[in-house]
Amino acid sequence: MNKEKIQSFGDQVQRAERILVISHTRPDGDAVGSLIGLGLILEEMGKEVNLVLEDGIPKVFHHLPASDRVFRESAGVYDLIVVVDCSDIDRIGNVLDDHGEPDINIDHHPTNTRFASLNMVQEDAVATVEMIYDLAVALSLPLNQPIAEALLTGLITDSLGFRTSNVSPKALRTAAKLQELGADLPTLYRKAMVEKSIEAVRYWGLGLAKIQLEDRLVWTSLSLEDRKLADYTGRDDADLINVLSTIKDTDISLVFVEQTKGTVKVSWRAQTGFDVSKTAIQFGGGGHKPAAGAEVKGNLERVQEEVLKATRETLTGRG
Ligand code: 5GP
Ligand code: MN
Repeated sequence: MNKEKIQSFGDQVQRAERILVISHTRPDGDAVGSLIGLGLILEEMGKEVNLVLEDGIPKVFHHLPASDRVFRESAGVYDLIVVVDCSDIDRIGNVLDDHGEPDINIDHHPTNTRFASLNMVQEDAVATVEMIYDLAVALSLPLNQPIAEALLTGLITDSLGFRTSNVSPKALRTAAKLQELGADLPTLYRKAMVEKSIEAVRYWGLGLAKIQLEDRLVWTSLSLEDRKLADYTGRDDADLINVLSTIKDTDISLVFVEQTKGTVKVSWRAQTGFDVSKTAIQFGGGGHKPAAGAEVKGNLERVQEEVLKATRETLTGRG
């Protein structure tokens, strides 16, 4: 983030009174942590802040401060609209209808489409929360324990518990600073990364029973029927993709999650040396080289077939 952009961000938030902060659908820990972290910083500055996620806060993040103040719809007119952890504007869903255009885009995805007036995109940040922490420090904005809890959650989840290849000494120093501000690392880690509901584990079971492996490619699917059978209320894969990506002697893993409205959510994970974000872009999605996603129109069987074909090309270097 260059100095001019940081200053412009600071000036815009100082001037605004009523601020909307939004992030993407099927929110993960970085989306939630960035949204709440930035929202609480702005509130501490005396701003009136609305926090909106079209899908609401997933149950696994209900322990976070202010999670009960995140709404599914925006309301009224805003002086400033900030989008966090979102690589393209379609990913926010419909929350901006009639409420204006995004002013500020804070994100770390290499596939970010620069959709706002001020685009702050830092590809080497482990998580968007790291950028928000840096902004707060650079501009001497308020930081306290609840803010630190939200930010540390994003750092823990996007780095899969500090084990992704992009974890830097700086990210670890940021985690330490957040811990010094009072964030309880072991508890936040356990809540976000370790604990699973019985429904989520049953849902995993249904996915794991269908697992397929072929030429270093491993995949499975979760149908709407599986979701019902397991009583799982989320729209995501309950993080099953990160289980598949632990399988030895594989290069790329995929999970296909059937959605209502005739689409399929695809998640890719890849070992170092592969770039699945390119494959995801082919299907209208995006992400990072080792972790990407897309929501693809079509039925489960057809999407699976097309995506596997394109992913095999990525694997053989023809993608
Ligand atoms: P996941 O597979 O865990 O949903 O996402 C992996 C990565 O891909 C994350 O960085 C996430 O932001 C990105 N991603 C997931 N789904 C989509 C999508 O539909 N569109 C875009 N642009 N990125 C996505
Ligand atoms: Mn992120």
